[in-house]
Amino acid sequence: MISVKTAHELEQMRVACRISAMALKAAGDAIEAGITTADLDQIVYDTIVRQGAKPNFKGLYGFPASACISMNDQVIHGIPSKKVVIRPGDIVSIDTGAVIDGFNGDNAATFGCGKVDIEAQRLMDVTKESLHKGIAAAVVGSRVGDISAAVQAWVEKNGFSVVRQYVGHGVGKNLHEEPEVPNFGIAGRGPRLVGGMTIAIEPMVNQKSHGVKTLSDGWTVVTADGGLSAHFEHTIAITAKGPEILTVAEEEA
Ligand code: MG
Repeated sequence: MISVKTAHELEQMRVACRISAMALKAAGDAIEAGITTADLDQIVYDTIVRQGAKPNFKGLYGFPASACISMNDQVIHGIPSKKVVIRPGDIVSIDTGAVIDGFNGDNAATFGCGKVDIEAQRLMDVTKESLHKGIAAAVVGSRVGDISAAVQAWVEKNGFSVVRQYVGHGVGKNLHEEPEVPNFGIAGRGPRLVGGMTIAIEPMVNQKSHGVKTLSDGWTVVTADGGLSAHFEHTIAITAKGPEILTVAEEEA
């Protein structure tokens, strides 16, 4: 069942999403050559806990950390580690989420360490743009397929490919709720969007082909062909006034 949030519940979603965004921004701002992905995970944890929230990824399906951190050819679900040192030119996808008072936020972004090569930068730019194309399509009366088609069209027009095996999702009292929000599909299909729905749109975009595989750690998803991958995600609300991005960072008090 797709849950529709009351005005009060939307306010609670804004709080959880703001904290998720603060954690993402703090980790992104900390990226520099020599830092480990475990260091970034600690920053995510500390930021979330300081706000009185909890990292909702930790322990979910057994995930061992607060953030998923996926580098270069890694698509999603990378496990932070003291052994993974970020180097100049790396692209680093960070996915963070917080839960507070029973509501969840979820967001992700890919950051470059210093100057990245031109194709990596274009991949990041197109992925972020595709997220915003999807958000723009998330209006009352449209369907999930309109979001999917908008994301896919922008990615493919720019010569990249959309991961099929992992999709966006509803967010609320649970981190993962209905409906599924694929990053590929046909406009006019799928569940109808109504005011009060809150969903995470999260294109995962590969430089080359869309195939992915999971490493033997059971978590880390990588591109099948070794090409780069980028990931951007916002939790948004469908409202009568249009899509509202909930995962917006504010300065920490
Ligand atoms: Mg998500």
